Amino acid sequence: SHSDSLEYLASIGLETNKKSKRCRTIEEVLEYIESWQEQRQDLDYEIDGIVIKVDSYEDQEQLGFTAKSPRWATAYKFPAEEVHTKLLDIELSVGRTGVVTPTAILEPVRVAGTTVARASLHNEDLIHEKDIRIGDAVVIRKAGDIIPEVVTVLIERRTGNEEPYHMPDNCPVCDSELVRIEGEVALRCVNPQCPAQMKEALIHFVSRNAMNIEGIGERVVDQLYTSGLVQDVSDLYCLTKDQLLSLERMGEKSATNLLNAIEASKSNSLEKLLFGLGIRHVGEKAAHILSEEFGTMDEIAKADAERLTSIHEIGDKVADAVIQFFNNEDVLEVLGKLQSYGVNMDYKGRTRQEVPTEGPFAGKTVVLTGKLSILTRNEAKERIEALGGKVSGSVSKKTDLVIAGEDAGSKLAKAEELGITVWNETELVDALGEKE
Ligand SMILES: [Zn+2]
Repeated sequence: SHSDSLEYLASIGLETNKKSKRCRTIEEVLEYIESWQEQRQDLDYEIDGIVIKVDSYEDQEQLGFTAKSPRWATAYKFPAEEVHTKLLDIELSVGRTGVVTPTAILEPVRVAGTTVARASLHNEDLIHEKDIRIGDAVVIRKAGDIIPEVVTVLIERRTGNEEPYHMPDNCPVCDSELVRIEGEVALRCVNPQCPAQMKEALIHFVSRNAMNIEGIGERVVDQLYTSGLVQDVSDLYCLTKDQLLSLERMGEKSATNLLNAIEASKSNSLEKLLFGLGIRHVGEKAAHILSEEFGTMDEIAKADAERLTSIHEIGDKVADAVIQFFNNEDVLEVLGKLQSYGVNMDYKGRTRQEVPTEGPFAGKTVVLTGKLSILTRNEAKERIEALGGKVSGSVSKKTDLVIAGEDAGSKLAKAEELGITVWNETELVDALGEKE
């Protein structure tokens, strides 16, 4: 169990947290949380909550994982610390999609371990809803102990000198008229040539989860754009060393590193490029799904709405955005240039079409139950999936096969009741082996 492991680690002289406790009931857990709510101030490090775990490893394995996190562990968060400060001003920024976001400039104040001087106000409605005025005394906290936010205004502290805030009618960067799109609270600059948006698009393109080009931060993007060297993402791929050296504060070594990073990014797999292009509603996950499904940029660009929405995880909104994106001459020109500069447009993983359609697990829904001793549950799952099978958590009429390990209980009984094929672990291992 987890507690046994901790005890063992301590017994061989490794540092473990002496404050951890094994609780037998949920009441005991709640009591423990409550006691730390007060004592947390006395610790010589900051904590924002307490992690609760299922102790038995066997139970942990049985509970497994969701797509994001284990089902056998969770974090209880203490209520966020709130502090008072003064709102000095409201600044506007224009994001990649043209959304204009107001930010509160605060008198710097310490909260939950760091000094905070800015907080997002999200949109105009929120400013009016909370009646936030410049000069107000405000209560702030960190949402999830990370992102600073204004909780409320201390109206009783007003002196009469506070100024109500109104969003401008025009983009603070390019001066074109701002638009409120129906059904959205945000104000948007819809000028596709807006420098703020183009710069944000470049920053997004080079970011770690997109093309991951190290050495280009906000400052360098700003220089590249302002100097006219880079107008769209394809221009990055024809930068020369001399051009880079002409930028202020760009040394020989940084320029070489940057060119190497740009060169290396050419061989990224399709999903990184697709995400980097910043298609609306296409986040990392959708980019991955589309790449896995179609395999090449060309195939994605050719897909119509019917084909796109036939993919289980892709809805109308994403499909529309993808079609609109590839219907744009400017986009096609940039893609053409990227291709001519040697930027890879193929998916490097195994596409969905390549998933095996033959073999003992192809297209089969498999349920694992009981204790496995040769493989772990995860290994079994991964290997079944690699052979084209789907692993499900519960037995139903749709189940094709049940793998029953030791001490299999109700799932095995149900499988037998439904007349589903049942294998033991040895049979599973034999079948997995056939493909190797
Ligand atoms: Zn603008």
